Amino acid sequence: MIDHLTQPDSQILIKANKVNKIFPNGCHALKDVSLDIQRGEVVVIIGPSGSGKSTFLRTLNQLESISSGNILLDQVDLTDKRTDINAVRTEVGMVFQSFNLFPHKTALGNVMLAPMKVLNQSKEEAKQGARDLLYRVGLADRMNNYPSRLSGGQQQRVAIARSLAMKPKALLFDEPTSALDPEMVGEVLDVMKELAREGMTMVVVTHEMGFAREVADRVVFMEEGELVLEETPERFFHSEHPRLQRFLGQVL
Ligand code: ADP
Ligand code: MG
Repeated sequence: MIDHLTQPDSQILIKANKVNKIFPNGCHALKDVSLDIQRGEVVVIIGPSGSGKSTFLRTLNQLESISSGNILLDQVDLTDKRTDINAVRTEVGMVFQSFNLFPHKTALGNVMLAPMKVLNQSKEEAKQGARDLLYRVGLADRMNNYPSRLSGGQQQRVAIARSLAMKPKALLFDEPTSALDPEMVGEVLDVMKELAREGMTMVVVTHEMGFAREVADRVVFMEEGELVLEETPERFFHSEHPRLQRFLGQVL
């Protein structure tokens, strides 16, 4: 009780408050977007192409600056000039549609790199951590493979392990299965489901409605830069909101 009184927002890990993003070309990509993400929560964001989903994710780890509003990570204001943006980027990991592995490094080498360079881990420590993570994502037998010798699904699992190696407070996923052949989507979603079960805070942009129904604590619908709707999966997929209906009618 006392804890709650002194730390009113302690359950909220990420708090976006009336975030606006206007690009230099005048494109108003985010319009007063507000969203609270609790610790351990899985939030899935869906919406048409160009609705601002990627831009919003990118603002959450400050890959993109914002024009107005604010974003708090663990009660630290990311828009405050005094905030160390590089520290924020290590605390909020990001997994992209294109896996962006270093082609000249093995799976193990890819996962070891940032812990050594950014967290100053020793080579042995980084290697042990990378082995454990690759084991966790089901790639114990592929550790010494170069990316070119891995399937798309395997590469994306290495990318997830690489993000986890930084021990992030939250992980953001931007359409992590969109570039994969259909038969590889499941293995990546399974790893993400396991992370969710283990309590990782995750924000996931995806078109995988099955994943949203099964794994999300909340589903968010964005359109034209606005956060239109935010509901539990049961309520979301029964919602009669006309803008959502129109979108679901197109994709399902
Ligand atoms: P989504 O991920 O939902 O497809 P985006 O966040 O990529 O949408 O884009 C939202 C809007 O912002 C689009 O209209 C897009 O053209 C625009 N946009 C994205 N990045 C830039 C940029 N760097 N400069 C100008 N406009 C951009
Ligand atoms: Mg996008």
